[in-house]
Amino acid sequence: MNLREAIKDKKRIVVKIGSSSLTHPETGGIDYTRLETLVRELCNIRNSGKEVVLVSSGAISVGKRAVHIKDANHDIAVKQACAAVGQARLMMVYQKIFAEYSQVCAQVLMTKDTITNELNRYNAHNTFMKLLELGVIPIVNENDTISTFEIKFGDNDTLSAIVASLIDADLLILLSDIDGLYSDNPRTNPDAEFIEIVEKIDDRILEMGKSETGSSVGTGGMNTKIHAAQIATKSGADMIIANSEDIHILHRIMDGRDFGTLFVADKDDDFELIDYVKNLDE
Ligand code: GLU
Repeated sequence: MNLREAIKDKKRIVVKIGSSSLTHPETGGIDYTRLETLVRELCNIRNSGKEVVLVSSGAISVGKRAVHIKDANHDIAVKQACAAVGQARLMMVYQKIFAEYSQVCAQVLMTKDTITNELNRYNAHNTFMKLLELGVIPIVNENDTISTFEIKFGDNDTLSAIVASLIDADLLILLSDIDGLYSDNPRTNPDAEFIEIVEKIDDRILEMGKSETGSSVGTGGMNTKIHAAQIATKSGADMIIANSEDIHILHRIMDGRDFGTLFVADKDDDFELIDYVKNLDE
């Protein structure tokens, strides 16, 4: 079967969306139209009988707006305070829109300890399994309010791949502000070639990730996305990077159509999630 056709049969799906796709760039305020489209698409995937997990950023940027902080303040206490405000606000909006489609969602906040501590990891895994069994859509973010350098994942591309690995997902979709992987930065090199499919993440692919293509709102550039693809594919999941400009792209992908860059699952039985997370900052 064609690799894209096979996407239709994926059962457990993790979708990651970044702050830049959920907020207005001028103000940092929530873009309700986009958020609503996202929720509707996720409910539709859920209604087709699949299990869905959403990894959503936006806590810090929504919180900043709520307490009127405009500058790029790097003070950790300010960021953590903003995350506390913004995460609650973001969940309030998600709960409300998911409820309009009679869908129950839940909040799961994680730190590195959730993976590196055996008991925490065991409990987190069981909680996810139970939520999915109950038909709930878990909404995951880093616990930015308490995360300090030592326990921080740092970006939600990595976090979403770790979640995909933890719950044995079949597919991870990273919604981004770019169409997918290019051989070079398409914003500066008009000859940059679009890569539709990656069957093996080799040095050539790793090199492509180094041409910086990330936006300034979120934290993950292409390099982080390729590392996320390594975690996801080694754990046995396909991963797709796709453009969030039109969030309807989600059902097009689920219909088996050619959108974004597909990294094909390449299960590595020696891959240990705990060791990977322990070594993240070394
Ligand atoms: N966890 C951060 C937030 O919700 C964002 C991290 C990211 O964008 O990668 O604001």
